[in-house]
Amino acid sequence: MRRPNEDRIRTTRDATSNPTPLITDNTFFRRRTFLMSSAATVCAAAWPRVARATGGLDIEEQTPALHQVRVLLGSGVYGAPQQLDAWHFLWNGATYRGTAATVVLPDRRSGLVATLPLDDYLYGVLSKEIGAAWSPASQQAQAIVARTYALHKLRPDKPYDVTAGDADQNYGGFASETDQGRAAVDATAGVIVTYGGVPARVAYSACCGGRTADAGDVWGTPYPYLVSIVDPNCVGTPNFDWHADVPVDLLNRTLGSGFTNAGALRGVSLRVDAPNARPRAIDFTGTVTNFETPVTHFRDAVGPATVRSTFVHTAALDNQGTTVALTGTGHGHGVGLCQWGARMLGEGGANAAQIVAFYFPGTSFGRG
Ligand SMILES: [Zn+2]
Repeated sequence: MRRPNEDRIRTTRDATSNPTPLITDNTFFRRRTFLMSSAATVCAAAWPRVARATGGLDIEEQTPALHQVRVLLGSGVYGAPQQLDAWHFLWNGATYRGTAATVVLPDRRSGLVATLPLDDYLYGVLSKEIGAAWSPASQQAQAIVARTYALHKLRPDKPYDVTAGDADQNYGGFASETDQGRAAVDATAGVIVTYGGVPARVAYSACCGGRTADAGDVWGTPYPYLVSIVDPNCVGTPNFDWHADVPVDLLNRTLGSGFTNAGALRGVSLRVDAPNARPRAIDFTGTVTNFETPVTHFRDAVGPATVRSTFVHTAALDNQGTTVALTGTGHGHGVGLCQWGARMLGEGGANAAQIVAFYFPGTSFGRG
């Protein structure tokens, strides 16, 4: 999943304000009545009369499109699938929805692909992306965002649309589904995030670390609704803080000739453009010259499991000059919806529409 401009539209609720929601009514989606409303009118949309007074469009009679998704489950060497009936197959001891087929991948290896309806696919995503115990509102927000993400990944000219892992959305098949996940998908059937009348390019990660990342800084392409906002909701959740000790030897191997040509490492500092902002780059002071690299590149080079986010707060070289110690907050790229923040918003009483509007300012809802 990959993804600000000066005229961006913000939500009615300032990102730095108290996250306590105004309403707790989650029947918005259950009514199967969806109001085409801007994020600024989402709160009003929970009360139909108010929403209609603001010009909301009731699209209750529309039937969601029956999109099919092709999920790459395995590649190279893998066990043979056994089709159980027209809608299920068995593979590696687990049951999956859909039909299984072997395809030829761009690298000429074979791949096992499951083809199934979009919302059936989402059943197996919800349970893998967030826990069954999470609030219904955060589950519904996750369903809307996951559906929007998948729609953008449909590629009829390619052998598959999405992978079943971190590169896209984690997918576990029928065996991993939960009643809570299915309920969230059903309650939001067909609902997607839109911007300018078309599906939005959404993204999400486990925890933003207290401030989401701007898509332009992370992936080079800015979007007006994937801007950096302060998120107080995830602060203090499990694994919010992280610490990493990175051997300089590892940097010698992974940062390339720019780093090694700088000479023996003498110091490390962060390039921060504004208080409480994510650092733009890490500066290394060598005995020969200095070397600067974007934090996103640094994280990719060292490994995302070690440097768990680009929200690095401190960086220091030890006295021996052999280890760079880093501290930071968050887990993942930090762009778009923050799953832990969404969970906490839901537990605080926010509904799914409010959660989505908070993380994707200026967006609307529609049917995909
Ligand atoms: Zn967050």
